[in-house]
Amino acid sequence: MPRPLHAADPPSLGRVAFVLLRTSHPGNVGAAARAMRTMGLVDLRLVAPRHDDVAERPEARAFASGATEVLERARRYDTLAEAIGDAALAIAVSAEPREFGPQPAPPEACAADAMAVLAGDPSHRVAFVFGAERTGLSIDEVQACGRLVGIPASPSYSSLNLAQAIQVVAYCVRRAALDAAATEAPTPRGVPDAGEAGVADAADGDDGPRLADQRAVHGTLEHLERALLAIGFLDPAHPKKLMPRLRRLLLRARLRPEEVDLLRGVCKLMERGGPR
Ligand code: SAH
Repeated sequence: MPRPLHAADPPSLGRVAFVLLRTSHPGNVGAAARAMRTMGLVDLRLVAPRHDDVAERPEARAFASGATEVLERARRYDTLAEAIGDAALAIAVSAEPREFGPQPAPPEACAADAMAVLAGDPSHRVAFVFGAERTGLSIDEVQACGRLVGIPASPSYSSLNLAQAIQVVAYCVRRAALDAAATEAPTPRGVPDAGEAGVADAADGDDGPRLADQRAVHGTLEHLERALLAIGFLDPAHPKKLMPRLRRLLLRARLRPEEVDLLRGVCKLMERGGPR
């Protein structure tokens, strides 16, 4: 029997979010929804889109074609921080590396990395972050993410259309999810797709440590900044590159919740001016 072309959607895909920043064209958002849907991805997050009603716009619906449900379920956020807050790992997608940001890796490698994080704990989520059509991602936005995907393209023209970049990444994520699922115990018959938050997928039982989410990590960085100001290590008149460097360090470290607590405890004492 030949293997079917279209394999069932691995449940881990339900814990992968695609975050789109400041999109301007409703058609691109619709095409993005379709690109995701064809690969079994459903968690679309829109940060400050130009049109608040983008999901209802006829152009978006036309480009989404059979994937209007992804559009309708898309959640809207004011900031990138909120949109990636629940993710154990945020991955920027950009053709351009940024100073103090993560080094670019091909989408296949990042997709495999994303699957490893998802397998680490059933509560883990991963967010891929895409830039606006015209402006892409800012330095700050790339630095806010723990990894960076660059789609290797022609050096003479490396900028893909937003929805096409989403399609490439979504395909790699699906392939990685299928590869990961193939090495795990098969889901028993009759068990419905998990898909959503908090529902264990087939990776349940892996002994990877639980990671802190981005809300906790970025909260720690803000706390660290206040503490370093309090002890005079960070000079607001000459901040140099201290915070971008620390941000890179903390994001690279993939902190666990208890490590976040530890760092926050240190920060508290620094703010208070040492032991009482
Ligand atoms: N003029 C913008 C292009 C934005 S294209 C710029 O210079 O950044 C819209 C989005 O598609 C980008 O922000 C990125 O998320 C994605 N994208 C396009 N081409 C890409 C590539 N070669 N590698 C990775 N992401 C890409």
